Amino acid sequence: AKSAGGNRFELADPEADARVITRHGLTTALPAALERGEFFIEYQPLVHLGDGSVHGAEALVRWLHPQHGVLGPDRFIPLAEHTGLIVPLGRWVLEQSVRQARAWRERYGETTAAGPLRINVNLSPCQLAHPGLVQDTVEILERTGVAPDALCLEVTESALIGADDDLLKPLRRLAEMGVDIALDDFGTGYSNLANLRRLPVSVLKLDRSFTQSMQQFPADPVDLKIVEGIVALAHSLDLAVTVEGVETGAQAEQLRILGCDTAQGWYYARPGPPERLHELALVDATA
Ligand code: C2E
Ligand code: CA
Ligand code: CA
Ligand code: CA
Repeated sequence: AKSAGGNRFELADPEADARVITRHGLTTALPAALERGEFFIEYQPLVHLGDGSVHGAEALVRWLHPQHGVLGPDRFIPLAEHTGLIVPLGRWVLEQSVRQARAWRERYGETTAAGPLRINVNLSPCQLAHPGLVQDTVEILERTGVAPDALCLEVTESALIGADDDLLKPLRRLAEMGVDIALDDFGTGYSNLANLRRLPVSVLKLDRSFTQSMQQFPADPVDLKIVEGIVALAHSLDLAVTVEGVETGAQAEQLRILGCDTAQGWYYARPGPPERLHELALVDATA
């Protein structure tokens, strides 16, 4: 702690105090925030690397806090996981996102120029462990009339490392229904590549760190070899490869050459309101 002159009341770090208060305050405010409708969802398009057409979108939740303004998920998802609020919050995100997918499909038809328009939703490990997951998902899809194969649930690699069969069972059931399961942040969790065969996943989402290493063109030859190897393995296991964090055209080109299937990142679009995808899909349909 810093000691300022003779004033011993300045010993504490006021910023640390503020952080603690905010953390505690945010945690206790979460349930009311959900009831008052302070959460909203931004959508970030996923595009086919081959032709740049829209493949779908990932739902990313935000909190419009009455005092602190818009808070990103990194600020409150861990708190919601800690208190268990992630279960109702996650269910809300799923329902909203699937409804949005329905609305897009009603407006543009079941398919874009590139195929069915899909919706990706993040799933916390707590939701995976919650017994209502499969039933909630089935009910939401039935209520909205969206086909299971339009939905992709993203689970982080770290959540599935060492997961026993009980934890994988709900994912298997969803996969059997036709829901896609994506392994998110792939490459950060030291998982055994052979382990992939055991998991009911159909998509690998390569972590942004790989994309960052493609900043230069041509990229570092070792990084290229690693991504090339992952893509080859994924394709041999019938998994599609999505890359995240694509910020430049050079990265997109490099990843396309390496055989990645779909991409997401600021180069194409930042996360935004659902109308923004309307514009992209429209461009797509008239192209
Ligand atoms: P994620 O699933 O890996 O999502 C991708 C993150 O990368 C998003 O951050 C997105 O805005 C950001 N991003 C996208 N393109 C680029 C790019 O080109 N460059 C850079 N630097 N960043 C990019 P965001 O929205 O802050 O979300 C952070 C994390 O919060 C997500 O990481 C996800 O793990 C979690 N999250 C978001 N929404 C939900 C949700 O509804 N439920 C759960 N359980 N977690 C969520
Ligand atoms: Ca994700
Ligand atoms: Ca990710
Ligand atoms: Ca991430």
